[in-house]
Amino acid sequence: MNYMYEAHFHTADVSTCAHISAQEAVELYKNAGYSGVVVTDHFTLECFEKKYPGETWKDKVDYFLRGYRNAKKCETETFSVMLGIELRFPENDNDYLVYGVDEQFLYDHEDIVSMTAKQFKKVAEVNQLTVIQAHPFRIDSNITNPRYIDGVEIYNGNKRHDSSNNMAEIWAKKHGFITTSGSDFHEYEDLARGGVSFNRFVKDVKEFRAELLSGKYELKRP
Ligand SMILES: [Zn+2]
Ligand SMILES: [Zn+2]
Repeated sequence: MNYMYEAHFHTADVSTCAHISAQEAVELYKNAGYSGVVVTDHFTLECFEKKYPGETWKDKVDYFLRGYRNAKKCETETFSVMLGIELRFPENDNDYLVYGVDEQFLYDHEDIVSMTAKQFKKVAEVNQLTVIQAHPFRIDSNITNPRYIDGVEIYNGNKRHDSSNNMAEIWAKKHGFITTSGSDFHEYEDLARGGVSFNRFVKDVKEFRAELLSGKYELKRP
């Protein structure tokens, strides 16, 4: 398993809680020996109403996509930059890493930020998206009905939160979930704390998702 990917990554270009620009962050991950990142900036109704400027949904998605697009400029033959989202619904403060979306999907789906996890499950099935609950055992999160998710992040590397990763792992095993590891990169101390490693290079998020579904990968957990 020689190809390491960051599965949970924020950019200061978009996420107000993040402190490092997309391009600097990509260079840091290249230097750390990774083969790519999935850019998962926050995708929530609150962000779109209060933090992402723009008159129309299209303007707002344009703003949201800046982090990904700026990171993408640093993509190379040996380093993939992929699009994801960290989605939150109005029903609670749970976060979901969604793998499989593309730019057009986001422009076409203003409705998803107002859904419930239950409603989104159907959208995910139709559009072949993989839904991973991020840090389900953090103090401000609660566990989502296993029917509405495909997996859980069992290692979250962010040091400023206690994600009770051991609890997430037990929960995942009990339900046979897909499991992931991610740094939840927001600042320097988060660099390369987590990730998923595959035995082949993946060039886009479709391939990334296929590797997750194959079950043949390893998790980075320092
Ligand atoms: Zn954040
Ligand atoms: Zn995050």
